[in-house]
Amino acid sequence: MPAKVSKQVRVLPKFTLDRPIIRDVKKIIIGLAAVLVLAGGYAAYQALNQADEPEAATNNNLNEAEFDKSLYSLDQPGSLWWVVNKQRFIPGDYLPADLTSPDIKLRWAADAESMQVREVIRSDLEAMVRAARQAGHELMLVSAYRSFAYQKQLYDNYVKAYGEDEASRFSAKPGTSEHQTGLAIDLGRTDGKCEIEQCFGDTAEGRWLASNAAKYGFIVRYQKGREAVTGYQYEPWHFRYVGRELAAEIKQTGLTMEEYFGL
Ligand SMILES: [Zn+2]
Repeated sequence: MPAKVSKQVRVLPKFTLDRPIIRDVKKIIIGLAAVLVLAGGYAAYQALNQADEPEAATNNNLNEAEFDKSLYSLDQPGSLWWVVNKQRFIPGDYLPADLTSPDIKLRWAADAESMQVREVIRSDLEAMVRAARQAGHELMLVSAYRSFAYQKQLYDNYVKAYGEDEASRFSAKPGTSEHQTGLAIDLGRTDGKCEIEQCFGDTAEGRWLASNAAKYGFIVRYQKGREAVTGYQYEPWHFRYVGRELAAEIKQTGLTMEEYFGL
């Protein structure tokens, strides 16, 4: 059977060819193993590096995460995000339990009612005033907490002087003032220039605050051109504490508190 023999002969060289292929396969396996070892080492190195930079990793997670708009109540008296305006009244007898006088320059005596703020905002307020000083701007607390009774006295005086319509554009009816929450403050220059006046927004101090207050958890509550939404004319001196996270959100979106929460 010569045909069969010739077939077998032709088969033999195929077997001999197999040896170099096997050697190649071995080389490939060794190569792959080397690559895996290197990749594993690199991954471990990366992991170690990341462990050294926990802040960077945390920030990335924060950016990716959706901001939780329901973290604090908008309605609960005393809540950090309690929204108070002309439609959302404060109970007349609401008194913050943690009022304290901040360690910054004060317009009036430290024990005056209007020089009190809630303890929860104190450290950020003091840090903001220190940062302003480092940037060359001296700030003073002009007015903070106001009780229902004090706000009534203020408002009644304004109404006598300007009439109710005009007075209500810049002064809150008792029970509708954010100042009663202890979370709102009026800031000014230490020389009193532009105190509680719109020109404060054009001073170096007012501009610094507009740019930097959010870093310390404060927002410009009554923005320019938003009277129809907030019910108040532009008040570059009036800041509301909402915490650093929400303040950053609100500053970034350019919305008022009412718009941001869809109220
Ligand atoms: Zn104010």
